[in-house]
Amino acid sequence: MMRLPKFDYRVPREIAEAVKIMAGSGPEGQFVAGGTDLYPNMKRRQQMPRTVISVMRVPELNQITGDGKSGIRIGASVTLTDIVEHPVINRDYPVVAHAARTISTPILRNMGTIGGNLLLDTRCNYYDQNYEWRKGVNFCLKKDGDVCWVAPGSSKCWAVQSSDLVPVMVAIGAKFRLASTLGERMIDAAGFYNDDGIDYLKKRPDELLVDIHLPALNGWRASYQKLRRRGAFDFPVLGVAAWIQVERNEIRTGSGSDRVSRVKDARIVLGGIAPSPLNIAEAGAALIGQPLDDDHIQAAAEAAYVKARPLDNTDFVMNWRKQMTRQYTLRALQELAVPD
Ligand SMILES: Cc1cc2nc3c(=O)[nH]c(=O)nc-3n(C[C@H](O)[C@H](O)[C@H](O)COP(=O)(O)OP(=O)(O)OC[C@H]3O[C@@H](n4cnc5c(N)ncnc54)[C@H](O)[C@@H]3O)c2cc1C
Ligand code: SF4
Repeated sequence: MMRLPKFDYRVPREIAEAVKIMAGSGPEGQFVAGGTDLYPNMKRRQQMPRTVISVMRVPELNQITGDGKSGIRIGASVTLTDIVEHPVINRDYPVVAHAARTISTPILRNMGTIGGNLLLDTRCNYYDQNYEWRKGVNFCLKKDGDVCWVAPGSSKCWAVQSSDLVPVMVAIGAKFRLASTLGERMIDAAGFYNDDGIDYLKKRPDELLVDIHLPALNGWRASYQKLRRRGAFDFPVLGVAAWIQVERNEIRTGSGSDRVSRVKDARIVLGGIAPSPLNIAEAGAALIGQPLDDDHIQAAAEAAYVKARPLDNTDFVMNWRKQMTRQYTLRALQELAVPD
């Protein structure tokens, strides 16, 4: 049986107290929310904090406020179950509720939080193993070793960004609020993730994720498609988040005028195939200024396929995952191609 190492457990009730404890703990401190990622990692000796600081009892981190008109603010400690069941999120941000619903299992969603999901450790077949297994291969760059078994010539870790909500947040233009004893800052989800399996966040370890801000609905809609082996539960080995903003124009016809819809802006973001989410600019460009019809959806899907370069370090054969990028982008965009 894998056991947790010994650690001190602290339960602050305010943001100021949480960040103060963290500042006092130095590099040995780590925040925990539901613990569905951190505790298994500690059992596998991948992460070994001496002080674990729970963020579950800070009221500000447990609230959801606002709606689609004003934009919504979701506290980092809100559980995935609460997101899946929240009436305003379901009504105004169905893509967020849908992506959350695809995460792990009902029991894990009762524990797991949106914040923990957005900060999820990157994953790799050579890393998500117990200590003895990793010791057997002399470890790897990400923890305790000095070689990458996926790309032995590489000085970079290619462990995969494996959260379902990350590509969605990047696609819809969410912002994150971070706090530390040095103050607060807001950062765009799009600029928050590094293309590096070890240093995968642009967040200092002492920074607390306070909340997630979803933009107001101003004519955009979004969808998410997830590839995984088991429909019941599994991490994504490809996630496609599609976001479009549509504009409608009057055009003159022989008999009067007609209304035409065109894509004003678009983003296609891939998760589960690289250390960071990938915004495929060419796929967005294939849609902008065009009607969302079969031809342009095909062109965007082809652009996503060309740019996708999955590695051989998660489930399924990488070439097949690359092929599936085309198919899953098609599905994500077809879901958005509803009549206005
Ligand atoms: C069997 C299994 C299946 C899973 N399937 C999926 C899946 O399909 N899709 C998916 O996306 N995930 C999956 N997960 C991963 C995980 O359950 C979820 O991502 C969950 O949302 C993590 O949230 P948590 O609150 O438990 O995170 P924790 O384990 O509490 O924390 C995760 C990380 O975030 C940090 N952290 C948490 N909150 C804060 C904060 N407010 N400020 C700063 N740092 C913070 C922690 O220090 C840690 O580094 C699965 C996990 C398991 C065990
Ligand atoms: S990508 Fe390489 S360095 Fe990173 S976890 Fe996998 S084997 Fe280790």
